[in-house]
Amino acid sequence: MKKIAVYGKGGIGKSTTVSNMAAAMSAMGYTVMQIGCDPKADSTRNLTGGKNIATVLDTLRTKENAALEDFVVKSSSGVYCVESGGPVPGVGCAGRGIITAFEKLNELHAYEVYAPDIVLYDVLGDVVCGGFAMPIRGGYADEVYIVTSGEMMSLYAASNIAHAVKSFGSRGYASLKGLILNAKNILEEEALVQRAADEIGTKIIHKMPRNPIVQKAEEIGLTVVEAFPESSMAEEYKALAARMLEVEQ
Ligand code: ADP
Ligand code: SF4
Ligand code: MG
Repeated sequence: MKKIAVYGKGGIGKSTTVSNMAAAMSAMGYTVMQIGCDPKADSTRNLTGGKNIATVLDTLRTKENAALEDFVVKSSSGVYCVESGGPVPGVGCAGRGIITAFEKLNELHAYEVYAPDIVLYDVLGDVVCGGFAMPIRGGYADEVYIVTSGEMMSLYAASNIAHAVKSFGSRGYASLKGLILNAKNILEEEALVQRAADEIGTKIIHKMPRNPIVQKAEEIGLTVVEAFPESSMAEEYKALAARMLEVEQ
């Protein structure tokens, strides 16, 4: 089982990238599970027809003896979708919520029941506190990627995430595999991100162009990979998926 965590600032394009990769990996024949770790709980939206699925935390709040089927939804592309969810706004700790959700998945043996080849964690990286660092600790993820553009705030988040990974990494946990540049088309963007990668001591593993076809797919509740499989953007996501799995496309 390959366990990959994708971090990045809110709104940078993590869920778009991860859900497209999940669909691409599933089409390559792998069993994939995608776990959204963001109180926004919309990580898997483009896999489930544009609808938000029930989150683990909401289910635990409303149902006694919750079972896996209550919050694991298989998408039309075959991806097992999970959303950790978040606390009631203004009350509680989102990070703690992620830990609770992970514990529940373990307790119900989700990884044994669905036997995924690949688990993708889609994690908000604005706050790299204990809870949001959970996927990179405790053996949840082995590999970490960070989605960033050339914008200052997303590079700042990337740097924080990289520091967190490094501080845990020395204790034998997950390792940082690289940056995914999700272009915002700002001036000299690639050079800015390359400089950040050099400072962090990592590399840019893929440059994802900005493309309005992403919104077109989103409007109909689909990933680009499913909605426009012949498009150049679908090819980009497939190439990124192949790169991450280190397989020939
Ligand atoms: P995050 O999960 O990091 O909060 P999202 O994946 O939800 O961010 O992306 C935020 C918005 O950016 C989405 O509405 C999506 O349509 C858009 N977006 C993401 N990546 C691209 C891209 N490469 N080209 C065009 N639009 C994109
Ligand atoms: Fe919880 Fe982290 Fe927010 Fe603190 S910063 S309340 S630990 S989610
Ligand atoms: Mg998201």
